[in-house]
Amino acid sequence: MAIREILTVPDPRLKEVSNPVAGGVTDDIRTLMDDMLETMYAAPGIGLAAIQIGVPLRVIVMDLAREGASPEPRYFVNPEICEMVEETAPYEEGCLSVPDVFDEIDRPVRCLLRYLDYNGNAVEEWAEGLFAVCIQHEMDHLDGTLFIDHLSRLKRQRAVEKVKKANKIKARDAA
Ligand code: ZN
Repeated sequence: MAIREILTVPDPRLKEVSNPVAGGVTDDIRTLMDDMLETMYAAPGIGLAAIQIGVPLRVIVMDLAREGASPEPRYFVNPEICEMVEETAPYEEGCLSVPDVFDEIDRPVRCLLRYLDYNGNAVEEWAEGLFAVCIQHEMDHLDGTLFIDHLSRLKRQRAVEKVKKANKIKARDAA
């Protein structure tokens, strides 16, 4: 396993639409998911899409276990949302690609998912609560959408400027 670099805004790769994984869940895809999980844990974060480490494939990892509880890694290959309820609720979201920015986003509270798991088995399940929020956030990444794209243009520009400034300071301190 290896920790990979996480792309941050305004990296244009974050706007790419990711491709479906063809040929099922191979060892290469499992290695990618292992790296993604390690990268996510190190960040630390609760979800990561492959494009966030620059790989344009429809692959997501997630772990919603509470701090201090044993890890509960989840893996999603070619996830699809088949059904969504109309009821929405706000949740304060953040993103490893938009560090230190948090804002409330409204999303459907439940959705029916279909995906392949780590072993390539087809799974269908309802997501709700934080799981529903997180999977919708991560699936947005697969279509090149960030959570700040759901905000007003002003808030979005402010968020990008904040990350650019922080990255500039980081680069200066590293030099
Ligand atoms: Zn994100």
